[in-house]
Amino acid sequence: MHPLHTAIAQEQEFCARNYHPLPVVLTRGAGVHAWDTAGRQYLDMMSAYSALSFGHSHPRLVAALTDQAQRLALTSRAFHSDQLGPFLKRLCEVTRQDMALPMNTGAEAVETAIKAARKWAYEMKGVPEGMAEILSCEGNFHGRTTTIVGFSSEQDYREGFGPFAGGFKRIPYGDIDALAKAITPNTAAFLVEPIQGEAGIVVPPEGYIAAAARLCKQNNVLFIADEVQTGLGRTGRLLACDHENVIPDGLILGKALGGGLLPVSAFLAKTEVMDVFEPGSHGSTFGGNPLAARVGLEALNLLVDAKLSERAAELGPWFENQLRAIASPLIRTVRGKGLMIGVEIDPAYATGREVCERLLAHGILTKDTHETVVRFAPPLIIEKADLNDAVEQMRAVLGELETSRVRKRA
Ligand SMILES: *Cc1c(COP(=O)(O)O)cnc(C)c1O
Repeated sequence: MHPLHTAIAQEQEFCARNYHPLPVVLTRGAGVHAWDTAGRQYLDMMSAYSALSFGHSHPRLVAALTDQAQRLALTSRAFHSDQLGPFLKRLCEVTRQDMALPMNTGAEAVETAIKAARKWAYEMKGVPEGMAEILSCEGNFHGRTTTIVGFSSEQDYREGFGPFAGGFKRIPYGDIDALAKAITPNTAAFLVEPIQGEAGIVVPPEGYIAAAARLCKQNNVLFIADEVQTGLGRTGRLLACDHENVIPDGLILGKALGGGLLPVSAFLAKTEVMDVFEPGSHGSTFGGNPLAARVGLEALNLLVDAKLSERAAELGPWFENQLRAIASPLIRTVRGKGLMIGVEIDPAYATGREVCERLLAHGILTKDTHETVVRFAPPLIIEKADLNDAVEQMRAVLGELETSRVRKRA
């Protein structure tokens, strides 16, 4: 048919094969849309794993970025900048945390949380040196560093990358009794995603987050929420923890915090926890740089001004119901919260990948997770009409797959 696109050929030759992208070459984005090099328009229903909550190149964020880039982009933390303070003040205000430590990627902020929890355990809780334990969940995704993949339950993430750091224990997700049993006097923290994104949009039983936070408090264990994906409006509240009125002892943010323009992440905590850090104990050359701080602050203000959490709360359930109403035999379940929705496909009919490839042909960008789940996490600025279009294309694709499957059997 058409020759292999040069950009794809170059990636295949020069880029490590650590991803398996869908066959589309994007060249431009604006709002909820992106365009390929042939000028075809797509509706972005994945928004870079929730990093594009404000859509592509939001004018307000681009204006902040370009203005700051021409003024002062990088200082390193060897000096103060006039941007970091205002950004972190606002970030602490909206998340109801005391202090923040700025980093760049989600994984770095998770690493920061791990360091904070361990040091807090030794200095504040009195855990014997070298004995601190951190609990995490089956199916977790917290990033790709060697420490983090070391406590993953996913073989693909781990295989060939050991030996791994000790001090981690895994428990079943959504099981409060398992958490109660796993806590020991040496437990420093429970690290958990309020909804597991990469595991396939897994929503725990109602009350789990509140019960886990309570249990942690009773046992002097830090309750640390990884809201890199669920945070900043995605699930219909500013934080997913807000659904159960939980203010975590530690909070990890990333992805959307950079406004879809830059990698910006942070670990936030109450003062008692953050006080374990002193000059020299942790750092990052780019963490908290003026460009990131300016864009991050603008992103937070935009999130509040445009009422994006409220939009996700209003449009999410409607969209979820529309997807459910497709009532295709290919759909096993539709689950999620706000505008973070997973559609589980019956593998007897098709893989998630097949559904995504066909959606691409129908002008919808999204990606499967864990083979069977098609993820829908559009920019939070999306309009109902666009969501409706996504539903119609999903209906068409599932119809096609159903027909071809019946034909295959006949
Ligand atoms: C994406 C993600 C991370 C890692 O973020 P990176 O920026 O890719 O390092 C960590 N935790 C969760 C829950 C995520 O979804």
